[in-house]
Amino acid sequence: MTDQNASPAAPIDKEDKWGYDLYPERKGEAPKAKWWQIAFFGEGQVNKDRFKCERNVYYCFQNSPLVKLMYSALKSSGCDIDLRRHIACEVCDIKVSGGYDPELNQIVVCQNVARSEGMIQGILTHEMIHMFDNCRHQLDFKNAYHLACTEIRAANLTHCSFLSAVGQGDASFIRIKQQHAECVKTKAIASVLAVRPDVGKEEAKRIVDQVFDRCYADLEPIGRRIRRNSADMIRAFNERGNYGYD
Ligand SMILES: [Zn+2]
Repeated sequence: MTDQNASPAAPIDKEDKWGYDLYPERKGEAPKAKWWQIAFFGEGQVNKDRFKCERNVYYCFQNSPLVKLMYSALKSSGCDIDLRRHIACEVCDIKVSGGYDPELNQIVVCQNVARSEGMIQGILTHEMIHMFDNCRHQLDFKNAYHLACTEIRAANLTHCSFLSAVGQGDASFIRIKQQHAECVKTKAIASVLAVRPDVGKEEAKRIVDQVFDRCYADLEPIGRRIRRNSADMIRAFNERGNYGYD
């Protein structure tokens, strides 16, 4: 999260960033292997990872009830997803597994971190909730309250439930058996801090607390909190008609 990786050719305005340091490929460079990726992993590995990641993304869009539900919710809201345009597999900082770039309206799946279908399903669902909120409410991601709200919703609807430790790769949040709401709070604060290094921990906590009740109660478009190992995923997908999604 320091500036040491920033390319002098592509300065990033601090005001405009949403965690660019974590997504080096987001700096306007061509979407191909960078010298530093090749130096660390070899070009062959980078390309192989990208191919695998894209194949897993495609698999989730074909087979995951949650990803399919989010896809149809977005489509019904006028924000159709084109896999090639809206989803990008990239090499990221290992601190993150995925992200949503509100400026390009693109989901980033971190090909060097997210290596399984299950993990990619979790990332896609989480980031598609940000995309959905942005589509529905024109979120201002630079506004920490907006950011906190969509992070609460993403954690509430997915992460703190069935996706659990493998879903987002940060098992430590789940290891201790927390109350669901506490889990959502912890995860949302961590997500706000990851995207906004300028916001302190106490401030992030205060912001999350302030919007928590309203955003925690808003279950659209999944309609329920998905429990681990339950039939909720399928049920949510089957009941998508209740919200008018097809
Ligand atoms: Zn998020």
